[in-house]
Amino acid sequence: MKILVANLGSTSFKYRLFEMDDERLLARGGVERIGSDQARIYCSLGDRQWEEFGAVADHAAALELCLRQLTQPDIRVLSSIDDLAAVGFKAVHARHLTGVHRVDAAVLDAMEAYNAVAPAHNPIYVRAMRLLAERFPQLPLVAAFETDFHRTIPPPLRYYAVPYEWAERYGILRHGFHGASHRYIAERSAQLFGRTRLRVISCHLGGSSSICAIQDGTSVACSLGMSPQSGLPHNNRVGDFDVFALPALMRETGRSLDELLHELARNSGLLGLSGLSNDVRDLEQAAQNGHARAQLALDVFVASIRHYVGAYLYLLNGADMIVFTGGIGENSAAIRRGVCQNLDWFGIHLDENRNRTARGETPLHASYSRVQIWIIPTNEELIVARQTRDLLRHCPPAPGARVCS
Ligand code: ADP
Repeated sequence: MKILVANLGSTSFKYRLFEMDDERLLARGGVERIGSDQARIYCSLGDRQWEEFGAVADHAAALELCLRQLTQPDIRVLSSIDDLAAVGFKAVHARHLTGVHRVDAAVLDAMEAYNAVAPAHNPIYVRAMRLLAERFPQLPLVAAFETDFHRTIPPPLRYYAVPYEWAERYGILRHGFHGASHRYIAERSAQLFGRTRLRVISCHLGGSSSICAIQDGTSVACSLGMSPQSGLPHNNRVGDFDVFALPALMRETGRSLDELLHELARNSGLLGLSGLSNDVRDLEQAAQNGHARAQLALDVFVASIRHYVGAYLYLLNGADMIVFTGGIGENSAAIRRGVCQNLDWFGIHLDENRNRTARGETPLHASYSRVQIWIIPTNEELIVARQTRDLLRHCPPAPGARVCS
């Protein structure tokens, strides 16, 4: 069973194609600069690579061109589009809906209802899924929601202290996100440790960042709350924030609520604080050259990570493993050093040589550290492919069924 997992950006489409009979990665690729006449359509199979350039109007056209590339004679990992069992999406958020679902009108409506709650993700996904459903009516589209892994978070860590009916009626709860990534870390850490009874603090640090407390394979807390703008500072999104700052800002600046929300969701986080870049590589370079606000952004980021790691050490009554993943977690030795320094009372000791030279899945802790520290590159796409496969097995599409109206 071949499953393609899609990852959408506003002008990009990335995919991984899996043979799910043995969970083999067959190909990866995508399209950059969707909407332009010179979009790049690329794919790689192992160390062989292909690319071509041309006009790509939208995400449906992007998928079509990728499928065409995958069926061309010199690549041919698919014999035709009918060879594909489904496209799985790492979907972010939907009103009153989580889990794994065949994309239909109800799922799309529930996602669209939360466009404003997840503005960087939902509008792109809803638009692209609609286009794909129209263009490929026979191809099952599956949405695996990021909130699914966090269903096990218990009530004291799920509820905000707001009028109770807001939670029940409007879903104003800490839902948690990055579920596919934290689920992968939960499964992989259990494999590495050789047991499932395990306390793991999973630090997914990337464009969006979150910390998850994992007890015996299940999520018991996540730094992301009702929306993907919460928790740690993100690349350009705010993270935790006092909502009563908003009326003060509206009065001071004369700007509307929508304008300020836009600032919080687009021009805040690492970008807003530094005034320079949303990319940790740029900030580390600038900080080395004496850029004070780049240093401040990095310091605030590290302080926020330590805040949640500390809370979760308390919650889990210690930890067996701290895991770093995501573009920052896997690549920034300085951020990992900042997170782990001065924690000897907790039995957390980073081996600085290992940390400095680490690449790929690797331990970083000193031999005498009570808590193991690892880099584990995440594999969210594999989790989504598994969830898609399992849904199709339990609920196969009716022959000739139209997936979305
Ligand atoms: P996304 O959340 O968009 O999937 P990633 O997990 O790929 O993003 O993380 C992207 C971020 O990782 C970049 O914005 C950058 O801040 C950071 N990053 C990537 N490579 C490095 C590096 N070598 N050193 C420090 N940070 C890095």
